[in-house]
Amino acid sequence: MIAEIVTIGTEITTGSTLNTNTYYLSQKLFELGIETHYHTTVDDDEERLKRVIEIALDRADLIITTGGLGPTKDDMTKEVIAKALGLELELDEEMKKKLQDMFARTGRRMSKNNLKQALRPKGASFIENDNGTAPGIFINKDNKKIIMLPGPPYEMNNMFEKHVKNLIGDETVILSKSVNTVGIGESNLESRLNELKLATPNTTIATFAKGGTVEIKIISKGTDRVRVQEEIDNIVGRLREEFKDYIYGYDNINIEEVVVKMLIEKGKKIGLCESCTGGLVSSMITRVPGASMVLDRAIVSYSNDAKVEELGVNPSTLEKYGAVSEETAYEMAKGLLDRGKVDIVVSITGIAGPDGGSKEKPVGLVYLCVMTRDNHRVIKCNFNGNRQTIQTRTAIKALDEIRKVLIIN
Ligand code: AMP
Ligand code: MG
Repeated sequence: MIAEIVTIGTEITTGSTLNTNTYYLSQKLFELGIETHYHTTVDDDEERLKRVIEIALDRADLIITTGGLGPTKDDMTKEVIAKALGLELELDEEMKKKLQDMFARTGRRMSKNNLKQALRPKGASFIENDNGTAPGIFINKDNKKIIMLPGPPYEMNNMFEKHVKNLIGDETVILSKSVNTVGIGESNLESRLNELKLATPNTTIATFAKGGTVEIKIISKGTDRVRVQEEIDNIVGRLREEFKDYIYGYDNINIEEVVVKMLIEKGKKIGLCESCTGGLVSSMITRVPGASMVLDRAIVSYSNDAKVEELGVNPSTLEKYGAVSEETAYEMAKGLLDRGKVDIVVSITGIAGPDGGSKEKPVGLVYLCVMTRDNHRVIKCNFNGNRQTIQTRTAIKALDEIRKVLIIN
């Protein structure tokens, strides 16, 4: 089944509302194994909307629209689609009564315009809206399914979950599993995945880069649930053999949750000293419930003075090698390890940009030092991207290094 998502509203084409409906619906359809080939957005204009619908009817089997179902004049989705399909609009007495009751219950006056919401194209059915007055519409005609939903995400999402899934799903079972990796680039991962040839006619494997980590998503469909699950399990097993060191977790878990969980299980405490990430790593860690059991302290030692005063970095080290250097990273970590009752320390110093880079020390150069009571390692990284990307990648790298230390300790 090929789907097209049509979002309708001048507020979207003028940029005053962010089109989150397309984003939401695309994800949901993907999870259901339905391929979305087109995203279309059109303003509240009858002619253009009609044209968009005609084109969509020509190239998709499932059309989901959002917006334009309200009572006002610029809401015309239902009318235009009915016209495009050659369907009359009928007043639904039951819906009329329902709307009247709803208005009476909430003490509001029902205007004549509201009656528009009780109209439905001949042969169509309503989709209930628990969170608003505009019901959705479902048309199943000539092997095409057309689903019209209201614009407000709060109404639309609920309707999709509760009713639309049943309307577009079939006997097919679709299961998915995410394998989350860190420390391997998406393109590298993808070409290795291609070489493994794990995909089958019923199974797709796709990668998604998410700020320093890459998710491998396996989606499998079939009519026998046990077989579908087996197929996914087999692929996950193969991925584990191939990418063991890079896999930090499955499905919705993120790397900071994994790190906190491992620290709790192993009864270890960490300390952090961050320069160019400005506390990002500690912020990520402290977002996880239970962080107080594992984080002893985090110091944002941004200036040279702070590195000297808070961590005991030797001023001559800073002078000789600079703040962004292997030597400074080492002394930051050593200083914190000496001060705190911690098992693992990570220090971070780097150039997040956009200024401050040089030929020898370009923007994106970061040193991390990971130190335990009996070992340490300084890691030099060269990250690409803007300030925020460099900070995020550095933070993920730091979390991954803690994870690696915990695997062997
Ligand atoms: P409508 O159903 O066309 O009256 O839309 C009502 C409201 O829903 C708009 O004013 C927006 O705030 C919101 N909305 C409509 N379309 C979208 C969309 N594609 N993404 C997010 N919000 C939307
Ligand atoms: Mg609108």
